[in-house]
Amino acid sequence: MAGPVVRDGALAVRGESIVAAGPADDVLREHPAAQRVDLERAIIMPGFVNTHSHVEYTTFRGILDDAQFGDWIVDLVDVKASLTPDEYLQSARLGALEALASGITTIADTTYSGVTLTALAEAGLRGIVYLEVFGIDDARLAATMADLEERLHALQSQAPPQIEIGIAPHAPYTVSSRLYQALAAYAREHGLKVASHVAESSEELAYVRSGSGKFAHDFREKMGWERLLIQPYGVSPIKYLQQWGVFDENFLAVHCVHAGIDDIRILKSKGAAVAHCPKSNAKTGCGIAPLPDFLRQGVRVGFGTDSPASSNIMDMFDEMRTALFLHRGVERDVSVLDAETCVRIATLGGAEALGLADRVGSLETGKAADFIAVDVSDSHFVPIGDPYSALVYGANQEDILLTCIAGRVMYRDGVFTTLDPDAIRGAGAKVREKLRARVDEGRVQVGAAESGWWRTGPDIETTGV
Ligand SMILES: [Zn+2]
Repeated sequence: MAGPVVRDGALAVRGESIVAAGPADDVLREHPAAQRVDLERAIIMPGFVNTHSHVEYTTFRGILDDAQFGDWIVDLVDVKASLTPDEYLQSARLGALEALASGITTIADTTYSGVTLTALAEAGLRGIVYLEVFGIDDARLAATMADLEERLHALQSQAPPQIEIGIAPHAPYTVSSRLYQALAAYAREHGLKVASHVAESSEELAYVRSGSGKFAHDFREKMGWERLLIQPYGVSPIKYLQQWGVFDENFLAVHCVHAGIDDIRILKSKGAAVAHCPKSNAKTGCGIAPLPDFLRQGVRVGFGTDSPASSNIMDMFDEMRTALFLHRGVERDVSVLDAETCVRIATLGGAEALGLADRVGSLETGKAADFIAVDVSDSHFVPIGDPYSALVYGANQEDILLTCIAGRVMYRDGVFTTLDPDAIRGAGAKVREKLRARVDEGRVQVGAAESGWWRTGPDIETTGV
């Protein structure tokens, strides 16, 4: 990402950092005493930067594959309410396990429960944990802020140096304009990064523009918000948030499917970044975000897998490939996106979007030794020409040979060095059995929630997707 492809290349690592990158002969000459690891026929590249996920929902994979987006959100309220914090932790561990095995070294994860931090820290992943906030009822605003601050301090005190804690106002249909403003002010005062789902669905568009649609009715009823007045704003979700002054260079706008050129110019002028989740948006029928326009306007953008509840797997190769096919297919133009650009977005682009490009995203002397090796010896790579072509059109997460974060090998040849995969998969499967049984029996409802641990008052403040 920092220069042309190097054939017969090598990387030298000391401690947590890269100390040399370039032709193997040069690197070996500079570091003759270094312990040498020969990765044979592999592509060494920066680790993937996943700019949007919810690892705590990993056990939700495949439960609601074919629901319309509005129904899916409404149904998820019930599903989410049926797990305890410990079960969310098991679910998050399963996601962290998959991240390491799929070559993700930096992850920006949105969580309500906060257990994600434990799972990411155990796995040794780098990233940002965005703590989620909900609240439509302004009468509860002070309580919501106090609750956030308490949860935030608890996480900040546990966070290892490679994980930053940010905040995540969920979305324009679950967070009031006043709460968005209070959160933006709080984030600026405390130097926190912010991520929010923005302009994801046509339901959200209808809600913000005209106070109508599924989010104005079924969803608010489900959340217990039906008595609160809805104000139609007559504008797009991005213009709506702009009115409240929430965008700045620390703001990550997740999705932005419904973003016109004016909206994109707003993001650019405020320095806000975008997390593009092509698979999640297509699978839920939300649409296709205008990635080529983000790129043309110079908006910082990374790829996000979103939660396994929506896109099922955390495979960044699949995200790159899906993005390229969707945008070329829709625009009927191969020039809108190429393989090299996709690899850039999945690594350095993501790092830039998260404000972490000074540490990660490229293989350069002085940066963190966060890199992966992709095995290209298998038949689906032979013969190999352009490595970008091989990565985007041919590779899958199963081709990851090695994942290294801050100079530590976390995964190699199918073996995890920090995690016990059998125990994690077993615990995840148990959580899933419970969920499946509840969904099949139709017993999953907010009113029948077993835990209720996340409820903060008469207005149900629940976790989101
Ligand atoms: Zn999300």
